[in-house]
Amino acid sequence: MFQSKRKFLAGETILTQGDAGESAYIIEQGRVEIAVEMLNGKTQVIGTRGAGSLIGEMALVDNAPRTATVKVIEDCTLLEITQQEFKKRLETSDPVLRMTSQVILTRYRDTLMRAEINAESQNWPPAETIELKYAMQSHAVENIKMANEFRVALEEGQLCLHYQPIVDLKLATISGFEALMRWNHPKKGLLLPELFIPIAEETGLIVEASKWALEEACLALKRLMARIGHDDLFMSVNFSSPDFAAESFVDTVRDIISRSGVPTKLIHLEITERLLMSQPGNARETLRMCREAGMSISIDDFGTGYSSLSYLHHFPIDTLKIDRSFVSDMTENESSMALVKSIIVLAKNMKMHSIAEGVERMEEAKILADLGCDMAQGYYFAKPEPNE
Ligand code: C2E
Ligand code: CA
Ligand code: CA
Repeated sequence: MFQSKRKFLAGETILTQGDAGESAYIIEQGRVEIAVEMLNGKTQVIGTRGAGSLIGEMALVDNAPRTATVKVIEDCTLLEITQQEFKKRLETSDPVLRMTSQVILTRYRDTLMRAEINAESQNWPPAETIELKYAMQSHAVENIKMANEFRVALEEGQLCLHYQPIVDLKLATISGFEALMRWNHPKKGLLLPELFIPIAEETGLIVEASKWALEEACLALKRLMARIGHDDLFMSVNFSSPDFAAESFVDTVRDIISRSGVPTKLIHLEITERLLMSQPGNARETLRMCREAGMSISIDDFGTGYSSLSYLHHFPIDTLKIDRSFVSDMTENESSMALVKSIIVLAKNMKMHSIAEGVERMEEAKILADLGCDMAQGYYFAKPEPNE
């Protein structure tokens, strides 16, 4: 973890207040003095630190300027921890450890900001400055609260899935469903994914949530098949980057599906084009193994990821899901229409299926059917609804 050891001589400056910082240091040997420049221009020493102390640690949280100047008073040997290395470690650590560290570090930053506001207020800082700081602060605090609550939600079963049918445009029958996560928040009511998925992804809690969703969706499909005696409806489940980054992803998914007893080929993994582009090497191998295990792969939000088309045949993809923005625009906007047409033809030529997302009007469904789009999903057919 330590990039390097660095030596500083008495009198030298290690960190300067106001400078950008990218590293923290652990003092292995020696002693330093920490000083802060006040608003009146005077410098005040606020303490000294010796062997074993951590200095410049805020650089591990964000890119805000150094809040103090650190000078050597006895020759020092320092172990350097760069922000990049710290982040890498954090990303691959246990999700609970990761969340705890992030929460503690962010709270620490909040406390510092509050202290700064108090110090400044004696000198009547502009109200704007304070408001901005409070706004930033409350945003961070709100996110941390949400993250904590989401962990509880996972443990206490507050999450649920809604299912939206995906319709075969030629046969006008249901081909399958997409499982969409909802959070039954004890105080705020039913929350949509846009409010919690980003936080779940940031904290890594999404990995547990995805496992839960897959299991729940498999069981729902099994119950449905038993009830209607239909055995070829598919179930689409969404996955995020942290899911893919987890080493045991393929084994976990395979185990959950086989334990549920539904045929693996009925499970479709949905990943966004952006995810594919952000970790192409990793995604390719992971998808190859999922495909080998029998699952199907759908590319979500297709057309929004700025990807080069040449990547398409490097991945084992079964279905392209045409992003809602193009579908809802296509009757008014020629270039959206051109894009929709191209994606449908592209899918056909690549022997993939096409699904149009966000179909809200009969006119759109008709155009898509005429264009040869295989399937569609949207409020025109049905909104996502609970299992019952
Ligand atoms: P998505 O995967 O693109 O899912 C489709 C979204 O479009 C859903 O929003 C659905 O309710 C909405 N939708 C469907 N038909 C229509 C329509 O005709 N008009 C309009 N305006 N919207 C329509 P939802 O359920 O709010 O989910 C939003 C996003 O959250 C999803 O987009 C997906 O990226 C993410 N998400 C949902 N569930 C999960 C999950 O279990 N895991 C992960 N990682 N992400 C999820
Ligand atoms: Ca999706
Ligand atoms: Ca989508």
